[in-house]
Amino acid sequence: LAPRGRGPARARGVLTVLAWVWPAVPVVAWLATGGLSQAASSPAGLLTGAGILSGLVATAIVVEMLWLAARVPAVERVLGHDRALRIHASLGKPAFLGLVFHGLFVVAGYALADGLTWWGEFGQLWATNDAALAVVGLLLLAVVAASSVAMARARLPHEVWFGIHLLTYVAVAVSLPHQFTMGEVFASGLAAAGWLAVWVVTAFVVLTYRVFLPLFATLEHRLVVTAVTPVARDTVAIDMSGRRLDRIGLEAGQFFTWRFLAPGLWWHGHPFSVSATPDGQRVRITIRRSGAGTDLIATRLRPGTPVLFAGPYGVFTERMRTTDRVVLVGVGSGIAPVLSLMGDLPVRPGAATAIVRAGSVEEIPHRAELHTLAATRGVRLIELVGSRRRHADGSASWLPEGARATSLRDLAPDLADADLYVCGPGPVREQVVGEALVAGLPPARIHAEAFAW
Ligand SMILES: Cc1cc2nc3c(=O)[nH]c(=O)nc-3n(C[C@H](O)[C@H](O)[C@H](O)COP(=O)(O)OP(=O)(O)OC[C@H]3O[C@@H](n4cnc5c(N)ncnc54)[C@H](O)[C@@H]3O)c2cc1C
Repeated sequence: LAPRGRGPARARGVLTVLAWVWPAVPVVAWLATGGLSQAASSPAGLLTGAGILSGLVATAIVVEMLWLAARVPAVERVLGHDRALRIHASLGKPAFLGLVFHGLFVVAGYALADGLTWWGEFGQLWATNDAALAVVGLLLLAVVAASSVAMARARLPHEVWFGIHLLTYVAVAVSLPHQFTMGEVFASGLAAAGWLAVWVVTAFVVLTYRVFLPLFATLEHRLVVTAVTPVARDTVAIDMSGRRLDRIGLEAGQFFTWRFLAPGLWWHGHPFSVSATPDGQRVRITIRRSGAGTDLIATRLRPGTPVLFAGPYGVFTERMRTTDRVVLVGVGSGIAPVLSLMGDLPVRPGAATAIVRAGSVEEIPHRAELHTLAATRGVRLIELVGSRRRHADGSASWLPEGARATSLRDLAPDLADADLYVCGPGPVREQVVGEALVAGLPPARIHAEAFAW
């Protein structure tokens, strides 16, 4: 089991530096067009300058957010899909507040310079098309921001939240003209050409990776459901076949976003990981019923249904391994990618441990296959079933009642020298990661796939 090196830690460093440096680029353009001297010239200039600066930095952050969510392969490989989306989400608040600040301060600055009230100045700006469009863009972003606040997001069906989120692209588009026609930073010359190029490239990247490539891949591979089979309580496996699947670019442990093209199913897409090691012939996913969408898929999907997909995504793969030992932990529906990964690891007997955690034995998907694969590949397989053990303080452990082990380390004594792969929904996964960190495992050796964003 030869280790594969340090993975993309260095690339992640480069991306981090780029992310911090990029917002300074439009600020440099502002300085080059005399922004600082104008800001220092009067109180009105100071207000306007602060507003413009805030808008420039916030817009640069919006560009970063679009790239993070665009499924760009380099970003996906380096950060991982879930982390890219988490960073994307964390940038939403500063970007939105920066744009609000921009609007308030620019209007205040102009009002002071023109001797008008704030409202009077707002009314004048509203009369110019581009400023009015920018205000509409900001209002749309406010709706998006409100829908993404944790409390609202938890209550909204995913599809509704996603639909609202698409308004971001409209908001960005309608706010574009004022960036070029109002103010001097991108009014002409190299700065204007460069800023236009940033938007053209960003639009191209978003359309390519989110729309065109998934459509091309769908048409190229023509995936069709061949079987829907119950494989555990409330869980079905979906087998699909198609054309040239050896060229689909799939690695064990990855996931796609799937849309089954049948009445009642086509309008909701869901991320599901592959549950079989890729063999170039078929793709299998395993779905646990956990809500309205998965219920519909499990009960209505029939063989012969064509499938639209986007992906593959995710870094829960053999490629990320850095040592010659592996501990795999699959929690509930997270057992699916663990199974697919087990078939992919070049295992030396005893060098890999797979822990599957479920509410009961009946909830372990593909149980017989798991055992056979573990036996043939020399993987130590540990099944942990039952409800979560309660600590004395009332908090719940990820381990079940009745288990003799008290920690991940008890189950996998070689943990400190291994790579940990942990996958599945919710707090159990988080606790496993927490225990691994406490056991001294460096974060670079922990490969965790969250089953929610
Ligand atoms: C990377 C990844 C891989 C996954 N792999 C598997 C797998 O192999 N097997 C499996 O059973 N489950 C998997 N899941 C979980 C699965 O996607 C959700 O359980 C499913 O989408 C829930 O949809 P629902 O309508 O049934 O439930 P809902 O009640 O609508 O949602 C339940 C939860 O899933 C989230 N969710 C719903 N739809 C989506 C969506 N389109 N995109 C992202 N999150 C969504 C909701 O925000 C909510 O947190 C995976 C999730 C992710 C993020």
